[in-house]
Amino acid sequence: MTKKVAVLPGDGVGTEVTKGAVAVLKAIGERFDHQFEFTYGLIGGAAIDEAGTPLPESTIETCKQADAVLLGSVGGPKWDRNPSHLRPEKGLLAIRKELDLYANLRPVTFYDSLADASPLKKEYIEGVDFIIVRELTGGLYFGKPSERRTEGNEETVVDTLFYKRTEIERIIRQAFDTAVNRRKKVTSVDKANVLESSRVWREVAEEVAKDYPDVELEHMLVDSAAMQLIRNPKYFDVVVTENMFGDILSDEASMLTGSLGMLPSASLTADGPSLYEPVHGSAPDIAGQNKANPIAAILSAAMLLRHSFGLEKEAAVIEQAVESVLHAGHRTADLADGNHYLGTDKMVEAITAVIANDSAISSIMTAYS
Ligand code: NAD
Repeated sequence: MTKKVAVLPGDGVGTEVTKGAVAVLKAIGERFDHQFEFTYGLIGGAAIDEAGTPLPESTIETCKQADAVLLGSVGGPKWDRNPSHLRPEKGLLAIRKELDLYANLRPVTFYDSLADASPLKKEYIEGVDFIIVRELTGGLYFGKPSERRTEGNEETVVDTLFYKRTEIERIIRQAFDTAVNRRKKVTSVDKANVLESSRVWREVAEEVAKDYPDVELEHMLVDSAAMQLIRNPKYFDVVVTENMFGDILSDEASMLTGSLGMLPSASLTADGPSLYEPVHGSAPDIAGQNKANPIAAILSAAMLLRHSFGLEKEAAVIEQAVESVLHAGHRTADLADGNHYLGTDKMVEAITAVIANDSAISSIMTAYS
């Protein structure tokens, strides 16, 4: 298979972890005889510094020419005081709109060997395996008007929660399609006791559910979902929700696994290249120190192979390699207990070495043959 991957390293640890993800994709290419061609683009603070804008046209072009996009992360204190059109995050929102990345998938998976890294007791998190499907291009983050005003002598402010029915339907359908291949349960999260948008969301969820008779649908208020994620995270299979609720709940869920450095994500489009990125940000506190955990970016590369290229076996090999390395006791600083840990580059080396020749991988290959 020959495929083009656009790589947008971004800022801070984004540059370090995408390097690791590219190394892993190259290792997969070598082992399975695929040609992955990498093209690079600027985004975020790095793009502001070099091109005067958080998302240059050339980056949009690079992405549109590719079969999939791998992103690091954007942002950092250097640009925190910039005017809003020159904020790194603008680049992120803009690429989501440009590529119409409407569905953000964030799997939350329990690793037995990391049980001690979670702030929750093992009995609560053992076996946790769910996925948050977050709407990504609508809701409060994109609705207009979004502005400050003066009414009488008082400053007022408005943000708008706007959705088209079709936008709600396609994300809910994505959740049901995801659930079909899992434990067949969709929890739709809203605030229907207060918000009209949530009441429409519920109606649409009920309609879509009729097309999936084997999948159970339940509704849950967002405040209750926030509580349930901590009290009984094993309860969930597929959680679907609107943009802002999803943003908050997925960060809450990320802590179950012990570190933001473990969580991958996929942002899918119906047509064109989808984008894959770790859930974490640019981690300015550890950037440039070879301390970042590259696993979230590496698992994002696995999602890229699965969702964009249909390479299920190769994706499973990456996931298995990560599991083997953790099982062998290797840790980056965020997961380590004490001062004995691997740097970013050594963790990448450990994972690529497993992909290149470990017997655990052979058993996956047998399972898929
Ligand atoms: P963050 O995710 O960058 O960091 C939060 C904490 O997690 C920090 O202590 C950091 O050291 C740690 N952490 C994050 N990634 C890690 C990794 N791979 N390995 C080990 N530890 C890791 O969030 P923040 O500090 O709130 O934000 C920093 C910057 O990142 C801000 O400018 C923010 O706007 C931006 N941000 C970008 C994205 C994105 O690009 N998608 C997402 C969130 C935040």
